[in-house]
Amino acid sequence: MFEIQNQVLLAPYTSFNVGGPAEHFALVDNADDLVEALKCTLPTTPLWTLGYGSNCLISDKGLNGMTVVIKGGEVKVEDSVVIADAGAWWDDVVKSSIQHGLWGLELMSEIPGSVGASVFINITAYGQSVGKRVLWIDVWNRESSRVERLKQEDLQWGYKDSLFQHDDGKKYVILKAALQLSDRKTEDLTYQKALDVAEELDLDVESLVERRDIIIEARQRAGSLWHPGDTGSKTVGSFFRNPFVSAEQVDKIIAHDETGKTAEQIRNMNLVHGGDSHRVSAAHVMLAAGFKRGQTFADGKVKLNDQNLLKIEALDSATANDIYETMKHIQAVVKETLGIDLEPEARILGDFS
Ligand SMILES: Cc1cc2nc3c(=O)[nH]c(=O)nc-3n(C[C@H](O)[C@H](O)[C@H](O)COP(=O)(O)OP(=O)(O)OC[C@H]3O[C@@H](n4cnc5c(N)ncnc54)[C@H](O)[C@@H]3O)c2cc1C
Repeated sequence: MFEIQNQVLLAPYTSFNVGGPAEHFALVDNADDLVEALKCTLPTTPLWTLGYGSNCLISDKGLNGMTVVIKGGEVKVEDSVVIADAGAWWDDVVKSSIQHGLWGLELMSEIPGSVGASVFINITAYGQSVGKRVLWIDVWNRESSRVERLKQEDLQWGYKDSLFQHDDGKKYVILKAALQLSDRKTEDLTYQKALDVAEELDLDVESLVERRDIIIEARQRAGSLWHPGDTGSKTVGSFFRNPFVSAEQVDKIIAHDETGKTAEQIRNMNLVHGGDSHRVSAAHVMLAAGFKRGQTFADGKVKLNDQNLLKIEALDSATANDIYETMKHIQAVVKETLGIDLEPEARILGDFS
């Protein structure tokens, strides 16, 4: 059961730990209660659906209308299909699939967040994306006030993109997802830093179970682990999407890598993360535009992570507006110096005017 509350502060529901109050608010822990909460919301009322808040920046002014947070739900495996409620913790899905000897998600081990957001974002890591595995998704259609089933081919998958991020998908709230997995390997692991971990720890990249260990260690080293309640680094992971650039710009941008990797290794890393030869790492773009790891903004309240400058960190007294203004500044400098439009991967929710 759930109750609808008023003026609930949203900051504690996000990994940035910033953001104002929800006008109306419900916290649900399964897909059935999510539908009930949605039935209590008029189709004309603004609606915001959140999972674990690890990929959103919510305005200090809060969110008008109704905010429904879904955390929790069932994960079950039927033959080679995993079916999970929108609020299930993504990594529980990965763990279940590995326990059943199923390949297709293992390289996305320990990406923080919910199943609903994983398909909304089309999460991607180390050469795997969730969209490729989706068989169907059950949604609540706010226009018809009915549950509908959408198929893989209806969902407009792209790099960190899905139907749900576009105007024709905004009427849907994700309730449940079914993922088609395989009893055989689906992808090779080619990402150099993960291969280095495997070699150092003598782990087998061809073993499903050991692949998970490799990825978790690689993520640990990259500072890419987060669980609800963690009080360490406050980020949303990579703040910006890797942009498309012209063929001429690729070499110019990757020349700014100072870690000793060859151009071929960098091109391969970009391919693994972005899937296209003209998509370069947003981190390299920021380096090429003159930004530095550890650089601070907003009187020291916002910082680019010491290792990975794509991770914008909120320090203790940062507001959502401080982070938003930092984003705008980075976008403006990148546009001015390189002519590239850097788009946020983080979802910017509410009014920042
Ligand atoms: C340390 C760290 C590392 C990360 N590493 C990666 C990574 O390797 N790869 C990667 O792809 N991402 C990564 N991320 C980003 C994040 O983990 C994912 O985007 C994740 O899917 C967000 O899940 P969430 O439940 O926290 O989403 P939220 O922040 O709660 O929501 C994100 C968006 O999804 C929408 N949404 C959520 N649930 C629903 C629903 N049921 N129906 C409709 N819309 C919904 C929300 O409205 C919002 O627009 C990382 C984040 C952090 C903090």
